[in-house]
Amino acid sequence: MKLVLATSNRGKIREIKALCDTFEVVAYSDLIDLGEIVEDGTTFAQNAMIKARTVYDALNDPEAIVLSDDSGISVEALEGAPGIYSARFAGKGATDKENLNKLVDALKAKGLSSSPAYYTAAIGIVCREGEYTVHGWMHGDVIDIPRGDGGFGYDPIFIPQGYDKTLGELDPEIKQTISHRSKALALAKVVLGTIQKARH
Ligand code: IMP
Repeated sequence: MKLVLATSNRGKIREIKALCDTFEVVAYSDLIDLGEIVEDGTTFAQNAMIKARTVYDALNDPEAIVLSDDSGISVEALEGAPGIYSARFAGKGATDKENLNKLVDALKAKGLSSSPAYYTAAIGIVCREGEYTVHGWMHGDVIDIPRGDGGFGYDPIFIPQGYDKTLGELDPEIKQTISHRSKALALAKVVLGTIQKARH
Protein backbone atom coordinates (compact mmCIF):
# COMPACT_ATOMS: atom_id res chain seq x y z
CA MET A 1 0.00 0.00 0.00
CA LYS A 2 1.31 3.43 -0.96
CA LEU A 3 1.50 6.19 1.66
CA VAL A 4 2.06 9.82 0.74
CA LEU A 5 3.82 11.73 3.51
CA ALA A 6 2.62 15.30 4.01
CA THR A 7 6.00 16.51 5.28
CA SER A 8 9.25 17.73 3.81
CA ASN A 9 11.19 17.36 7.09
CA ARG A 10 14.08 15.01 6.19
CA GLY A 11 14.41 13.69 9.78
CA LYS A 12 10.72 12.76 9.92
CA ILE A 13 10.76 11.18 6.46
CA ARG A 14 13.78 9.04 7.42
CA GLU A 15 12.15 7.87 10.65
CA ILE A 16 8.68 7.23 9.16
CA LYS A 17 10.21 5.26 6.26
CA ALA A 18 12.15 3.09 8.73
CA LEU A 19 9.05 2.54 10.88
CA CYS A 20 6.72 1.82 7.91
CA ASP A 21 8.96 -0.52 5.96
CA THR A 22 6.04 -2.69 4.81
CA PHE A 23 4.52 0.29 2.98
CA GLU A 24 5.66 2.15 -0.11
CA VAL A 25 6.37 5.60 1.37
CA VAL A 26 6.65 8.69 -0.85
CA ALA A 27 7.14 12.31 0.20
CA TYR A 28 4.48 14.62 -1.27
CA SER A 29 7.18 16.95 -2.57
CA ASP A 30 8.25 14.18 -4.96
CA LEU A 31 4.74 14.19 -6.49
CA ILE A 32 3.46 17.77 -6.40
CA ASP A 33 4.69 21.31 -5.83
CA LEU A 34 2.54 22.92 -3.14
CA GLY A 35 4.69 25.68 -1.71
CA GLU A 36 4.43 26.34 2.00
CA ILE A 37 1.50 24.80 3.91
CA VAL A 38 0.30 27.32 6.50
CA GLU A 39 -0.03 25.52 9.84
CA ASP A 40 -2.36 27.85 11.75
CA GLY A 41 -3.98 25.30 14.06
CA THR A 42 -3.72 25.60 17.82
CA THR A 43 -2.96 21.93 18.53
CA PHE A 44 -0.65 19.28 17.10
CA ALA A 45 -3.72 17.35 15.90
CA GLN A 46 -5.18 20.36 14.07
CA ASN A 47 -1.88 21.08 12.32
CA ALA A 48 -1.46 17.41 11.37
CA MET A 49 -4.95 17.49 9.79
CA ILE A 50 -4.26 20.77 7.95
CA LYS A 51 -1.15 19.22 6.34
CA ALA A 52 -2.79 15.88 5.48
CA ARG A 53 -5.96 17.51 4.06
CA THR A 54 -4.02 20.04 1.99
CA VAL A 55 -1.92 17.32 0.38
CA TYR A 56 -4.90 14.95 -0.11
CA ASP A 57 -6.96 17.68 -1.83
CA ALA A 58 -4.04 18.68 -4.07
CA LEU A 59 -3.31 15.10 -5.14
CA ASN A 60 -6.88 14.69 -6.44
CA ASP A 61 -6.48 10.89 -6.39
CA PRO A 62 -9.23 8.79 -4.77
CA GLU A 63 -6.71 6.00 -4.14
CA ALA A 64 -4.36 8.26 -2.17
CA ILE A 65 -3.68 7.70 1.50
CA VAL A 66 -1.93 10.71 3.01
CA LEU A 67 -0.11 10.58 6.33
CA SER A 68 1.13 13.67 8.18
CA ASP A 69 3.16 14.19 11.34
CA ASP A 70 2.92 17.29 13.47
CA SER A 71 5.24 17.13 16.41
CA GLY A 72 7.29 19.11 18.88
CA ILE A 73 8.82 19.37 22.31
CA SER A 74 7.22 20.85 25.45
CA VAL A 75 9.52 21.95 28.28
CA GLU A 76 8.13 22.09 31.83
CA ALA A 77 10.38 24.99 32.94
CA LEU A 78 9.21 27.00 29.90
CA GLU A 79 5.50 26.48 30.61
CA GLY A 80 5.23 23.97 27.76
CA ALA A 81 7.10 26.03 25.14
CA PRO A 82 7.98 25.66 22.33
CA GLY A 83 5.18 23.06 21.83
CA ILE A 84 3.44 23.50 18.47
CA TYR A 85 5.98 26.24 17.64
CA SER A 86 8.97 23.85 17.89
CA ALA A 87 9.92 24.17 14.21
CA ARG A 88 9.85 27.99 14.35
CA PHE A 89 10.94 28.65 17.97
CA ALA A 90 13.84 30.87 16.82
CA GLY A 91 11.72 32.45 14.05
CA LYS A 92 10.19 31.49 10.71
CA GLY A 93 12.63 29.43 8.64
CA ALA A 94 14.95 28.84 11.62
CA THR A 95 17.31 25.87 11.41
CA ASP A 96 17.21 22.97 13.89
CA LYS A 97 20.43 24.32 15.40
CA GLU A 98 19.02 27.83 15.89
CA ASN A 99 15.88 26.41 17.55
CA LEU A 100 17.96 24.16 19.84
CA ASN A 101 20.23 27.08 20.80
CA LYS A 102 17.21 29.22 21.63
CA LEU A 103 15.88 26.48 23.92
CA VAL A 104 19.27 26.17 25.65
CA ASP A 105 19.39 29.98 26.10
CA ALA A 106 15.85 29.99 27.54
CA LEU A 107 16.84 27.32 30.08
CA LYS A 108 19.98 29.23 31.03
CA ALA A 109 18.01 32.47 31.39
CA LYS A 110 16.01 30.70 34.10
CA GLY A 111 19.24 29.61 35.81
CA LEU A 112 18.57 25.96 34.92
CA SER A 113 20.79 23.31 33.39
CA SER A 114 17.92 20.85 32.79
CA SER A 115 14.14 20.48 32.90
CA PRO A 116 11.59 17.71 32.45
CA ALA A 117 10.21 17.78 28.92
CA TYR A 118 8.27 15.64 26.49
CA TYR A 119 7.85 15.16 22.78
CA THR A 120 4.38 14.87 21.21
CA ALA A 121 3.61 13.46 17.76
CA ALA A 122 0.19 13.75 16.17
CA ILE A 123 -0.17 11.61 13.06
CA GLY A 124 -2.98 12.50 10.68
CA ILE A 125 -4.38 10.17 8.03
CA VAL A 126 -6.65 11.41 5.24
CA CYS A 127 -8.09 9.12 2.58
CA ARG A 128 -11.45 8.50 0.92
CA GLU A 129 -12.56 6.40 3.91
CA GLY A 130 -12.21 9.38 6.26
CA GLU A 131 -9.92 11.41 8.53
CA TYR A 132 -8.09 10.01 11.55
CA THR A 133 -5.64 11.33 14.16
CA VAL A 134 -3.52 9.42 16.67
CA HIS A 135 -0.94 10.59 19.18
CA GLY A 136 2.25 9.36 20.85
CA TRP A 137 4.46 10.85 23.55
CA MET A 138 8.01 10.42 24.88
CA HIS A 139 9.00 11.82 28.27
CA GLY A 140 12.47 12.75 29.51
CA ASP A 141 14.67 15.77 30.28
CA VAL A 142 16.25 18.52 28.23
CA ILE A 143 19.80 19.61 29.15
CA ASP A 144 21.78 22.76 28.42
CA ILE A 145 24.74 21.11 26.64
CA PRO A 146 24.10 19.34 23.30
CA ARG A 147 25.57 15.82 23.08
CA GLY A 148 25.83 13.66 19.95
CA ASP A 149 24.73 14.37 16.41
CA GLY A 150 22.21 11.58 15.75
CA GLY A 151 18.50 12.19 15.21
CA PHE A 152 17.37 15.71 14.33
CA GLY A 153 15.86 18.82 15.90
CA TYR A 154 16.16 18.89 19.67
CA ASP A 155 17.52 15.30 19.95
CA PRO A 156 21.07 16.32 21.06
CA ILE A 157 19.62 17.91 24.23
CA PHE A 158 16.89 15.34 25.02
CA ILE A 159 17.56 12.45 27.42
CA PRO A 160 14.67 9.95 27.38
CA GLN A 161 13.38 8.63 30.70
CA GLY A 162 15.38 5.56 31.78
CA TYR A 163 18.51 6.51 29.77
CA ASP A 164 21.61 8.56 30.53
CA LYS A 165 22.42 9.51 26.94
CA THR A 166 20.75 12.02 24.64
CA LEU A 167 18.86 10.93 21.52
CA GLY A 168 21.81 12.45 19.66
CA GLU A 169 24.06 9.83 21.26
CA LEU A 170 21.74 6.80 21.38
CA ASP A 171 21.49 4.28 18.56
CA PRO A 172 18.67 5.32 16.16
CA GLU A 173 17.12 1.87 16.70
CA ILE A 174 16.57 2.75 20.36
CA LYS A 175 14.78 5.96 19.39
CA GLN A 176 12.64 3.88 17.01
CA THR A 177 11.37 1.72 19.87
CA ILE A 178 10.61 4.51 22.37
CA SER A 179 9.80 7.64 20.40
CA HIS A 180 6.60 9.68 20.29
CA ARG A 181 6.59 9.07 16.52
CA SER A 182 6.91 5.28 16.82
CA LYS A 183 4.13 5.16 19.44
CA ALA A 184 1.80 7.22 17.23
CA LEU A 185 2.72 5.21 14.13
CA ALA A 186 1.94 1.94 15.91
CA LEU A 187 -1.65 3.22 16.25
CA ALA A 188 -1.64 4.68 12.74
CA LYS A 189 -0.79 1.22 11.40
CA VAL A 190 -3.95 -0.18 13.00
CA VAL A 191 -5.97 2.44 11.10
CA LEU A 192 -4.07 1.70 7.88
CA GLY A 193 -4.71 -2.03 8.32
CA THR A 194 -8.46 -1.35 8.58
CA ILE A 195 -8.38 0.79 5.43
CA GLN A 196 -6.39 -1.88 3.60
CA LYS A 197 -8.94 -4.56 4.55
CA ALA A 198 -11.86 -2.37 3.48
CA ARG A 199 -10.27 -1.93 0.04
CA HIS A 200 -9.72 -5.62 -0.69
P1 IMP B 1 6.52 20.37 12.44
O1 IMP B 1 7.25 19.95 11.19
O2 IMP B 1 5.76 21.63 12.29
O3 IMP B 1 5.70 19.24 12.98
O4 IMP B 1 7.64 20.67 13.52
C1 IMP B 1 8.32 19.65 14.16
C2 IMP B 1 9.50 20.22 14.92
O5 IMP B 1 9.51 19.64 16.22
C3 IMP B 1 10.82 19.80 14.28
O6 IMP B 1 11.30 20.78 13.43
C4 IMP B 1 11.72 19.62 15.47
O7 IMP B 1 12.23 20.84 15.85
C5 IMP B 1 10.76 19.15 16.57
N1 IMP B 1 10.70 17.68 16.63
C6 IMP B 1 9.63 16.89 16.37
N2 IMP B 1 9.94 15.60 16.49
C7 IMP B 1 11.23 15.57 16.83
C8 IMP B 1 12.12 14.49 17.09
O8 IMP B 1 11.81 13.29 16.99
N3 IMP B 1 13.38 14.85 17.42
C9 IMP B 1 13.77 16.15 17.52
N4 IMP B 1 13.00 17.18 17.27
C10 IMP B 1 11.72 16.90 16.93
